Amino acid sequence: MKTSTCKCGGSIKLDRCLVENFLVECMKCDKCGEILFTPEQTKQLIKLREANKKIEGKRKIIKVGSSIAALLPKKVEEYGVKEGLIDSVKILSSNSLEIKFDKEIV
Ligand SMILES: [Zn+2]
Repeated sequence: MKTSTCKCGGSIKLDRCLVENFLVECMKCDKCGEILFTPEQTKQLIKLREANKKIEGKRKIIKVGSSIAALLPKKVEEYGVKEGLIDSVKILSSNSLEIKFDKEIV
């Protein structure tokens, strides 16, 4: 990924940014903070938006033995999500968790 120069003189580098509540790769100026997207990054955002449309909704958390489990929509199987290990779970914001897999799912 080549770096380019922003109008302000700063350099535009690969970064991650929050767009429409999706954490996506973007190109960001290290000086003025201007955000740009490559065609691939735009394509990825569209893919995420479409995938989210399919699975977004209210879900339940159920008790399983001494643990709890979040019920995910069956459609996530289309993205290769199945029972088994999750890479990590962490707090993402004041009211959300991130469930991270060891591979890309979208
Ligand atoms: Zn700039």
